[in-house]
Formats: sequence, C-alpha cells, structure tokens
Amino acid sequence: MTLNRIGHLVASQPPVALSARLRAITTSVAASALDLLFPPQCAGCGAPGQEFCDRCAQNVEPLPAAVCPQCGKPQQAAHLCSRCRRGDFPIAMSRAAALHTAPLREAIHALKYDDRPALALPLSRYLVATFRQDPWLRLTPRIDAVVPAPLHPARLQERGYNQSELLAEHFASACHLPIHPDWLERIRATRQQVGLSAFERQQNVFGAFRASPAVAGQILLVVDDVFTTGATLSACADAALAAGAARVYALTLAIPSHAS
Ligand SMILES: [Zn+2]
Ligand SMILES: [Zn+2]
Repeated sequence: MTLNRIGHLVASQPPVALSARLRAITTSVAASALDLLFPPQCAGCGAPGQEFCDRCAQNVEPLPAAVCPQCGKPQQAAHLCSRCRRGDFPIAMSRAAALHTAPLREAIHALKYDDRPALALPLSRYLVATFRQDPWLRLTPRIDAVVPAPLHPARLQERGYNQSELLAEHFASACHLPIHPDWLERIRATRQQVGLSAFERQQNVFGAFRASPAVAGQILLVVDDVFTTGATLSACADAALAAGAARVYALTLAIPSHAS
C-alpha cells in the first residue's frame, strides 16, 4: 500500500520537476559528502571546518568612528575629505563594512583569486549588517536597485565568476532589494589596479564602463569588494549618471585604513 502510494506519487510528478528535484538533492548530498571528506579551510587562518571561521569573523576590524561622510574614507575627524570637498567624488555616499586588514583581507583575496566563490555568502553578511545601520537606515528615498561592479568579460571567463556579483546577489536577497547585474558593463579591459597610484588608477578605469538606459531615473547602490581609491566605483557612477541615473550610492566590504 505504502509502496504503491509512493510509486503513484513519484509517477504523478512531472518528469522535469522530478529530475530537477533529484538533481538538487543529489547535488546537496554530494556537497555535504565532499564537506565531510574535505572540510573547507578557513580563508582567514586555515583552520578546517568553515569557509570563514567564527574566530576570524570576530577579528574583522570595524571602521574607526571618524570617516568622510561622503566617501567613507577613515579620517582623523568626520568632515568631508579634500576630494569630496572639491566635488570630485560622483557617489552620493559610499561606505565600507570593515577595514581591509587580516583576516578579512585574506578572505577577500581568496574569494577573488583562489576560486572560492562559496566565501561570498559569509562575507556578504558584513554588507547586510552595515546596510542595516545608519546612515543607510535614514536614507530617503530608498535604493531602487543593487548593481554589482562589473568585470570585463575576458576576466570573467578566466575567473569563472564575478566576486562582486556574488556578494551583491547574497546581499540583495537578504535585504529584499532588486538586483540588475546587466545595468553596468565593463567595455574596456583594464590593468589590475594593484600597485597603481591613485592618479594611475583613475586613468586606468576612465571610460571603462557603460550603463544601460534602464538606469534612467533610478537610485542605484553599486556593490564592490574593496574601496582602495574609489576609482572603479567613481567610473561606474560616472557611467550611470551619464545614462541618467538619479543618484548612485556605493557599498563595499573593505577599505584600507589609509585609503588615498
Ligand atoms: Zn579562521
Ligand atoms: Zn570623502
């Protein structure tokens, strides 16, 4: 009787839905079995068991109390930095979740360069926690769409994923915000920003992005992994504003304590 019922139930499932469900089950069983055989190593300290262990999570360095109210750069006092005072920063407000120091720095490096996309979920929680605090809570009107900082297609193919897009997806889903990864695209391959001066970074990414006409009138939140000089985010914002975006905000995981 029971067998018949199960047989009937299985037979009555549409074949596509059943195969998708079975695939999902086998994939998650396989992933759990792999985790048992080869537990992930913490990207911060190498301890086995978690992608980013609890001890490392507790050692992520929060931002100092004083940051530039516009670009979020750590400073001695909470007044506009010289660039924002000159009006040279096109983003209405940018904030990082934490300082770019160990162990978060190591985890971001592993997410970008060591083929560890599973780190995006635990790291995205810092973006969510930051967004649930002031000054974001007081933001009116609210964000219309989350847009990840794009990678050039060639680099995307090489890496297999865009780490900023993974972070943005987890973040947007936790905060119930729409996400539009195709609203910004990188139209020019650029050199890696690592090792370049602030001016060279600005030159390197100038005109590298294009925004979809869909951004017109929208309030965007661009999500990226690290704010170093803000050159990439500024170039993204320039492209979005040129295409008619109403306003652009930015949220990143980390910022160096001496961001230039
Ligand atoms: Zn750890
Ligand atoms: Zn500033």
